[in-house]
Amino acid sequence: MTLDAPKSKRTAVTSVKALDELGLVTDDRATLEAVAAAFRIRISPEMLAVEDAGVRAQFLPDARELRMRPEELADPIGDDAHRPVPGLTHRYPDRAILHATQSCEVYCRFCFRRETVGETGLLAEAEFDRVIDYLRATPAVREVIFTGGDPLTLSPRRLGAMLDRLEELGSVELVRFHTRVPVVAPEKISEGLAQILDRDLPVWLVLHVNHAAELTEAAGAALRRLNRAGVPLLSQSVLLKGVNADADTLETLFRALLRHRVKPYYLHHPDLAKGTGHFRLTLAEGQAILAALRGRMTGIGQPLYVLDIPGGHGKVPVGPGYLRGDGQGGWIVTDPQGGEHPYRDL
Ligand code: SF4
Repeated sequence: MTLDAPKSKRTAVTSVKALDELGLVTDDRATLEAVAAAFRIRISPEMLAVEDAGVRAQFLPDARELRMRPEELADPIGDDAHRPVPGLTHRYPDRAILHATQSCEVYCRFCFRRETVGETGLLAEAEFDRVIDYLRATPAVREVIFTGGDPLTLSPRRLGAMLDRLEELGSVELVRFHTRVPVVAPEKISEGLAQILDRDLPVWLVLHVNHAAELTEAAGAALRRLNRAGVPLLSQSVLLKGVNADADTLETLFRALLRHRVKPYYLHHPDLAKGTGHFRLTLAEGQAILAALRGRMTGIGQPLYVLDIPGGHGKVPVGPGYLRGDGQGGWIVTDPQGGEHPYRDL
């Protein structure tokens, strides 16, 4: 079902006033204006048209965002500590993150970059020159990851020019795009863009998607175009209370992704971003959900449940454990139904 207001079909909504006109304001309007002053609002026409509570909760401002907790951080995963040149994060030896833009088609209420997205727009040409110089001097970087803002908000021409220069380096073996665009603005995945991504340098795409209702018909068509261009498709999702934090909702999402030829890759435990406490659940709750999925879903539909350690210490798997020592040099293995079995290595 879609909203009738013609405005919602054509343009993104970026203000509390516009949300009010569409009947999408539920909290006190003055309070939501304070939320909007702290964290930007942007909801794409495609997502405005999805009338699902789990989808809306990701984009509609909420008075609870004003409740900041002492443990919450402006830079929860510590990107800023690993920035050799503007626009590049180099934390691990073999890969680096390129922030080609700070803009997104939507501003997600739980985003760990919520205090910087939308701020400065495009990486300037001269700054990209410095990125290229750094990568030329650092051939250990084999993979460049374009990420948030959302890199697929850039024009195909600009993306093509950046990919050409990365390809010319010779040392970069793989490029990865982390994006929400195929879902939230599928019209941007044109045939022209697909052609630019179809090149000798392997381009992988990691789709950020949190709920099966985000996979509209138009999103499906966009994924098909990417698939036909030979772009391997993975997904990453954030485990979010009020959106997808139960085994049934996640199973529906992961099965839908497989039908679209997308391999569920990461399920992120929510980061300690400011004003996002109402989305967070405990690690034990997350592990119980993952254990339930393990028992009922095909292996290729199972993502890795991961936590970004606050402070920039990296990302680690935090899923339920199936193996423990028996105290006598052997092991106890737990099966998906919870049964325990002895195992010896030799
Ligand atoms: S960077 Fe990604 S998660 Fe953050 S607001 Fe943009 S689209 Fe949403």
